[in-house]
Amino acid sequence: MKRVVIKVGTAVLTENNEIAKERMLNLVTLIIMLKKKYSVILVTSGAVAAGYSILKLDKRKQIGKKALAAAGQPILMSAYKRKFDIYDITTAQILLTEDDFDSRKRTKMFQEIIDAHLENDILPIVNENDITSTPEQLFGDNDQLSANVAYATNAELLVILSDIDGYYDKNPQEFKDAKLYKIVNELPKEALADTSTANNEFATGGIVTKLKAADFLIKRGKRMLLCNGFDLSAAKSFLLDGKHTLGTLFEPKAKTENKN
Ligand code: ADP
Repeated sequence: MKRVVIKVGTAVLTENNEIAKERMLNLVTLIIMLKKKYSVILVTSGAVAAGYSILKLDKRKQIGKKALAAAGQPILMSAYKRKFDIYDITTAQILLTEDDFDSRKRTKMFQEIIDAHLENDILPIVNENDITSTPEQLFGDNDQLSANVAYATNAELLVILSDIDGYYDKNPQEFKDAKLYKIVNELPKEALADTSTANNEFATGGIVTKLKAADFLIKRGKRMLLCNGFDLSAAKSFLLDGKHTLGTLFEPKAKTENKN
């Protein structure tokens, strides 16, 4: 079966400093449908926000954020577990840091762990190990982590579920006339310049980290779909019916040309 990595961001998974349970259930339901066609790996954010629901620490401070992530991770995982239990799907928690991608030996180890899970129909749920990572090695956001996971596990496609329909020529929250790019083959240097554009107060990514993730994958011959995580219909039609309705597809030029 083809492999697909689904990454869901803080904006989609949390609401008012709590886990957005209904949206999580919709995501779980989507994954259950996808599992008939794909081997699915989930990369999820939301631990810091989940931690904040029980512990009011300053998430802008390094220790505060780590303490929140440590308290929130089991809350996040049990929220997923309760939902996947409905469908009799066993989940596994995989916490990674940037270091895990530096050495072949370590990369091979988590690749094999994920392979073992998928072979046994267990859903690997990946998050960044906020607790042990230092600021220098922190991916800082799950967008780039998910791109690295997708590449390392030889996934066909990375789907990033966010609070927007895709990548626009300008920030759609600010500009009403922003236009959505349907297919992107290349990312200009300026687009990858590091400015924080995150929308949600717990979000660390913004559009730039998504573009960096896309750039990483395009350069390695892979594809990424950025689409809406509130309304999952674009993800559904792309993955289940092969129809690209909404959402931005980032892919190498050769792949677009092959289709035309
Ligand atoms: P997530 O929590 O899903 O990772 P973020 O809030 O980090 O989401 O990033 C998505 C946000 O990036 C959008 O809601 C939007 O406000 C912002 N953004 C800035 N520029 C653009 C752009 N050109 N196209 C799309 N979104 C953009």
